[in-house]
Amino acid sequence: MSLNSVTIVGGGLSGFTVAKELRARGFTGTLTIIDPAGVPYDRPPLSKDYLLGHRTAEEIQLSVAQWFHDQQIQIVTGTAAALRPDDAAVVLNDGTEIVSDKVVLATGGTARRLPIPGGDLESILELRTREDADRLREVLRPGARLAIVGAGLIGAEVASSALPFGTEVVLIDPVDPPLVPAVGHELARRLHDMHPERGIRLVTGVPLSITADGAGHNLVMDSGETISADAILVGIGIVPQTALAEAADLDADNGVLVDEGQRTSHPNVYAVGDSARIRLADGTLLRRAEHWEHAMNTGATAAAALLGHELPRHGAGWFWSDRHGVHLEGVGSMTGEGTTIVREKDGQPSVVFRLDPDGYLAGCAAVDGGLTVRAARRIIDRRILVDPEQLADPGIDLKKLAR
Ligand SMILES: Cc1cc2nc3c(=O)[nH]c(=O)nc-3n(C[C@H](O)[C@H](O)[C@H](O)COP(=O)(O)OP(=O)(O)OC[C@H]3O[C@@H](n4cnc5c(N)ncnc54)[C@H](O)[C@@H]3O)c2cc1C
Repeated sequence: MSLNSVTIVGGGLSGFTVAKELRARGFTGTLTIIDPAGVPYDRPPLSKDYLLGHRTAEEIQLSVAQWFHDQQIQIVTGTAAALRPDDAAVVLNDGTEIVSDKVVLATGGTARRLPIPGGDLESILELRTREDADRLREVLRPGARLAIVGAGLIGAEVASSALPFGTEVVLIDPVDPPLVPAVGHELARRLHDMHPERGIRLVTGVPLSITADGAGHNLVMDSGETISADAILVGIGIVPQTALAEAADLDADNGVLVDEGQRTSHPNVYAVGDSARIRLADGTLLRRAEHWEHAMNTGATAAAALLGHELPRHGAGWFWSDRHGVHLEGVGSMTGEGTTIVREKDGQPSVVFRLDPDGYLAGCAAVDGGLTVRAARRIIDRRILVDPEQLADPGIDLKKLAR
């Protein structure tokens, strides 16, 4: 059957990329993106430049409104309430029905809430949308007390972004240091230590309950301490938005299950980005990724698969994060069995490599080392065997080892 129309539910980076790639690959049929926020925008700046006021709402749009017009991509401002896979039909909240040849689910995730008494209080802040960032920005005032639960990527970025406003920050996490699975112990330690060096109070522990009154919030910790704050932000990960898929009987398991072409268990429906999880042909479920580049890559893959083109190859997973003026990047896996090699700069760990038991590079993370991470990715993707001594030597340019 020829493809004449595609409806994309969700206008985050993954949904946007599906549309952009379909057009780039020559698709001239009807293309519709449904999203409650209208014109798609980028999320990483919400905890960085947008929160700091360095970029406006227009400046974080993934493309300007005119581009969508020129590309004949229709943006429907609304929310999909139901999916009928057999008809490739999407029903909106207002009852409108959009029927097309294929549907792509690009619904991302919602912020995970604390499963404790008071964890569902309306006044507790989260950070997924532009509105969330605007609400958070209002509490960033000189002397205001902000407690952040979760010191992984987003929590740490917000802690850092709050400092120029003169806000007093308490950063809470059950683990010290967090992020070890993503960047290895040595870099995780260095990154976590940057917080108290800049005046942020670190608390290691588990919140047991939250109460709120006119004066603010009280967070009772497992240590018995009560932390008082004007506002609480919870950044403990996301819950993938699988409700539409599950209600339509598509396979889901902590994500809408897809094959390597982003096809769900129904031939009319694809899924991409944070909400999708790959199930390999032998049934193995891969870890669901929640990173920007993954959203873009899966969108590009879905576009190729929809058109029957060869699937693009993307290489090892990559992410970045920014805090306290340093830029962190990571690629591949830092968690598997094997050995760790650390490069130091100015007496501090700056690059961490993870070698698998056969001596091949499995993962790499670096502070202010984007080019090194890029070279590491090449080494991982091409399975180049490198000498561990050379990896450890900061005098050796990794690009040379990647040739
Ligand atoms: C604050 C923040 C900072 C980040 N920083 C980084 C970073 O530095 N580096 C990095 O690698 N990654 C970062 N990320 C992660 C990255 O932004 C996400 O992985 C990426 O946005 C995922 O894209 P997505 O399209 O899958 O989902 P999303 O961006 O979540 O988009 C999903 C869209 O679907 C819409 N939607 C959901 N349900 C429906 C429905 N029923 N009907 C219609 N629309 C619906 C939602 O409203 C949303 O607009 C950050 C994320 C956040 C929130």
